[in-house]
Amino acid sequence: MKSVAIIGGGITGLTAAFYLRRQGVPVVLYEAGSRVGGVIQSIRRDGFLAEFGPNTILETSPKITQLIRDAGLEKRRLEPDPKAEARYVVRYKKPIEMPGSPLGFFTTRLFTPKAKWAVLREPFVPSRRDGKEESIGEFVVRRLGQEFLDHAIDALVAGVYAGDPCKLSLQQAFPKLAKLEAEYGSLIKGQILGARERKKRGEVAKDRASKFSFDEGLQVLTDTLADRLGESVRLNTSVIQILKTTDSWEVTLREGNREFVEEHGAVLYAGTAHRLADLRILAGDKPLDLKPFGEIRHPPVASVVLGFKREDVAHPCEGFGMLIPKIEGFKILGTIFSSSLFPNRAPVGHITLTSYIGGERYPELASLPPERLGELTLADLRTSLGVRGKPVFQHTAFFPKAIPQYNLGYARYRELLNQFEATTDGLFFAGHYRDGISLSDSIVSGCNAADRIEKHQHSGSPSFQNSNTPSFQHSISL
Ligand SMILES: Cc1cc2nc3c(=O)[nH]c(=O)nc-3n(C[C@H](O)[C@H](O)[C@H](O)COP(=O)(O)OP(=O)(O)OC[C@H]3O[C@@H](n4cnc5c(N)ncnc54)[C@H](O)[C@@H]3O)c2cc1C
Repeated sequence: MKSVAIIGGGITGLTAAFYLRRQGVPVVLYEAGSRVGGVIQSIRRDGFLAEFGPNTILETSPKITQLIRDAGLEKRRLEPDPKAEARYVVRYKKPIEMPGSPLGFFTTRLFTPKAKWAVLREPFVPSRRDGKEESIGEFVVRRLGQEFLDHAIDALVAGVYAGDPCKLSLQQAFPKLAKLEAEYGSLIKGQILGARERKKRGEVAKDRASKFSFDEGLQVLTDTLADRLGESVRLNTSVIQILKTTDSWEVTLREGNREFVEEHGAVLYAGTAHRLADLRILAGDKPLDLKPFGEIRHPPVASVVLGFKREDVAHPCEGFGMLIPKIEGFKILGTIFSSSLFPNRAPVGHITLTSYIGGERYPELASLPPERLGELTLADLRTSLGVRGKPVFQHTAFFPKAIPQYNLGYARYRELLNQFEATTDGLFFAGHYRDGISLSDSIVSGCNAADRIEKHQHSGSPSFQNSNTPSFQHSISL
C-alpha cells in the first residue's frame, strides 16, 4: 500500500494520521512549523499554565471520547470544577451570570422586560421560507430583537469566532440554529424537541457538551499524538506543490532552501485556508483554482494571560468566564477564568485570567506590543472584575490569521472543496476551514478524513509497501 501525505500538523492532521496508522495505512505528516499542534500551545512558567490559543475541548461527539481513550490519555484528562458552570455576560460594565433556568431568565438583570417579552414571543415569529442566506445578526434581530443581538449574541459571536454577527452566515457558521427554525419553526421549540433526536444520534448540543482539558494543558493531546506517530512527523517541511501522476501523487517539499519531491498514494490537506491559496495542486490539464481561498477573512487575535494574587481581584471569578458585547465599550472580547475552570493553572493563592483582543471588532489592536496588550487588558479587568494590583505573571500570543470567518457566501468555498475531492482521485481536505471552527469539529473532521482515505487506500492500491517512508524521493534543487 502506498503512503498517505498529510499536510499540516495541527489537531486535524494529527488525528487523521493517528487513525490511519492504527488502521495499518502508512503516513507521512508534513508540518511547516518547528512544532506540532498548530494553534494549540501550552506553557508552564512560575507555576502558571498559559494556553496560547484554545483552552477547552467540547465533548460533542463520541469520536472525541474515543480519541482520548485511543491515545491513552484518560488519566491525564481534567474535568472542569463543577462550580465553573456559571457563564457571565458583561452589562452595565459588570459581569452578570447568564440565567440557567426559566425562572433565572425572568429575574435576570441581563435583559430588559422588552427583551424578555421578545424571547417569549419567539415561537410565534413566522419562519423565513425564501431560502435566502442571512447573517446571524439579521436572524437574531428577526426572531429575538435588537437587544438580544447587542447584549448577548454579539458577545457570543466574539467569544467563538472573534467575528462580526452582521457578516457571519447563519447557514454556514450556525447551521444548527438555521435547522431549528427550518424544522421546528422556532429556536425555543426546536431546542426542547430536538434534544431527543440528538440523544439518539449520540450527539450533544454545544451548550450542553462537557468541556475538558489535560493536566498540562491541551498541548498534551497534540504532543501525545505526535509521539505515537514518531518519525512519520516531519517538522520544518512545507508542502509547496502536489502533482497527480498516473497512479500516485508527487509532493514537492521545502526544507530550508532545499526543495525535493516525495511520492505518495493519496494526499490530505489539513492546513489552513489562507495557506491553501499559496499551494499549487496539479491534477489533469491545469492547476486547481485555489486563489479564492485567499479571500477568506481571518482577523488577527491576541491572547493575553495574566496572573494575579487572589486578594488583588475583587470578583470571585467562579465560573467559565465572561463574554463582552461591543456595546459595553471594552477593548477585550472576553475573559476565561482559567484557574477556576481547571485546577493547577495558578500557584496557591493566585488566579489566572485569559483574555482575547482583536478579532473583527478591533483587528488593529491584536498586533500591539505585549506591554500595551497587557495595559489594555488590565484596564478592562479593573473596571469589570475589580482587579486592584499589578499582574505577577503575563504571557501574550499573537495569531495574525486566527480563525476563518464563515461569512455570507462561505458555501462557495465548501462547494469548491467538495468538488475538488469528488473529482480528484486521492485528494482529500479536512480541518477548521471546512468542517467547523472548533477543536471538537477539527477532531471529528480528522477522524472522518481518515475513514475516507482508508477506504480509498484499501480499494485501489496496486502495490504494497509496509513502511512509513514515502514510496519515492528525489531532490529537485539545492
Ligand atoms: C486564539 C484561538 C482560541 C481558540 N479557542 C478555542 C477553544 O477554546 N475551543 C475550541 O474548541 N476551539 C478553539 N479555537 C479553534 C481551534 O483551536 C481550531 O479550530 C483548531 O485547533 C484547528 O486545528 P487545525 O489542525 O484544523 O488547524 P491549525 O491548528 O491551524 O493547524 C494547521 C497546521 O497546518 C500547517 N500547514 C499549513 N499549510 C501547510 C503546508 N503547505 N505545508 C506544511 N504545513 C502546513 C500549519 O503550519 C499549521 O501547523 C481557537 C482558535 C484560536 C486561534
